[in-house]
Amino acid sequence: PEDSGRRPFTVGVVGTGYVGLTSAACLAHLGHRVIGADIDATKVAALRRAEVPIAEPGLADLVGAHVADGGLTFTTDLAELATAEVILLCVPTPAHADGTADLAPFDAAVAALADVLRHDAVVVVKSTVPVGTTRRTARALGRSAVSNPEFLREGHAVHDFLHPDRLVVGTVPGPGEGRATATVTALYGGISAPLVRTDAASAELAKYASNAFLALKLSYVNVLAELCEHVGADIGDVAGAMRLDPRIGAAFLSPGPGWGGSCLPKDTRALLRTATEAGVDFAVLADTVTANEHQHDRVVRKIREAVTGSAEGSLDGVRLGLLGLAFKAGTDDVRESPALAVADRLACAGAVLTGYDPGVRRTAELGAVRWADEVGLVAKDAAGLVLLTEWPQFRQLDWRQLAALTDRPVLVDTRDLLDAGSVVRAGFSYHRLGR
Ligand code: NAD
Repeated sequence: PEDSGRRPFTVGVVGTGYVGLTSAACLAHLGHRVIGADIDATKVAALRRAEVPIAEPGLADLVGAHVADGGLTFTTDLAELATAEVILLCVPTPAHADGTADLAPFDAAVAALADVLRHDAVVVVKSTVPVGTTRRTARALGRSAVSNPEFLREGHAVHDFLHPDRLVVGTVPGPGEGRATATVTALYGGISAPLVRTDAASAELAKYASNAFLALKLSYVNVLAELCEHVGADIGDVAGAMRLDPRIGAAFLSPGPGWGGSCLPKDTRALLRTATEAGVDFAVLADTVTANEHQHDRVVRKIREAVTGSAEGSLDGVRLGLLGLAFKAGTDDVRESPALAVADRLACAGAVLTGYDPGVRRTAELGAVRWADEVGLVAKDAAGLVLLTEWPQFRQLDWRQLAALTDRPVLVDTRDLLDAGSVVRAGFSYHRLGR
């Protein structure tokens, strides 16, 4: 019989980034005693002072509350996880140059845990890992392991962790499997969500399959937007009609500068590699990736035409102001941001770039973009403004004043965020994708 009751566990969370820190804080909130472990000593020192290095709504409050009540502690020493009954692996799984997942950080964490774990500790793999990794982890640690992929969205991490669309729990057959499932189910006892119980391979694949499908939808609508421009259709109306079909779904149907972030690019590439290694021709996914690279180029072409008036116009020395640098609204994360991919190409063409983003910090890695702490600075003397991230607060900007600051009031809105009437009345020549 499985123990589906709720009881507090001692939980060790390895890796305290977006996924790990959110998991740690939310599990402490659910009443568990949580120890967060990370190799980054500076991060651990900050977290011990309840200083949260990432911007996620509600996260700093949860961390503050549970650091104060002792339910949440942090360490750089994995030996402190010796008391943990459950271990969550939340370390990064970045991409190698060939697209395969780089499992070096993951394997390092598993190796370090081998000598530390309680004999009955249940190991839960939350990192996004290729099919077979959970089974391999179970073997390496001589116990059952569970694949429990995380589906949270950055910018909504705390909400999504506590109110997930589904909990996926995939186990490796063998002794301890039943107890491992029961432990993970009890760990999430305070959360109500459909539970998908499956084998580890299906759970691992479900994560990649979901992210790759989102990327596919975005590439589809981006190419559709280009087609609209050629045939005189309006992507807003086309996508609007599509959205009303529940078989298609309303989300992820807006054109933009391309998809990015820390997950979609690496996960699509890793899934492609998995397919290739399995001898499966996943051409539609390969096209999804290629279309995204084309999208960055297409957006640059749009900007070039809007700013210079010609497809061959030179951007050399041209000052452009970028509105939005994060890979999407609501986050400070610029990893593989499409805004920066576009910026890179503009910089290669000689453009001089200043960027403003309400979430991104001065210390972020921004390549050729000079960071500005207020929006007026990006507009000042610019030959064009390019809106790249869909921050809703951009709608409230004083566009008349911004137009007056520019050298030429040209605005390319790659997210179709603004009200066309008001920006045109403010004096801008206004350009969008797919119209
Ligand atoms: P992150 O880069 O924000 O954080 C990872 C943390 O792990 C860092 O603090 C790093 O210092 C630490 N770390 C690295 N190696 C370690 C080791 N050997 N021992 C202990 N700590 C170590 O990463 P993230 O965005 O939280 O992603 C983690 C995993 O979750 C990835 O597999 C990712 O694909 C997956 N995921 C991410 C998201 C997301 O939105 N960010 C969503 C779902 C799943």
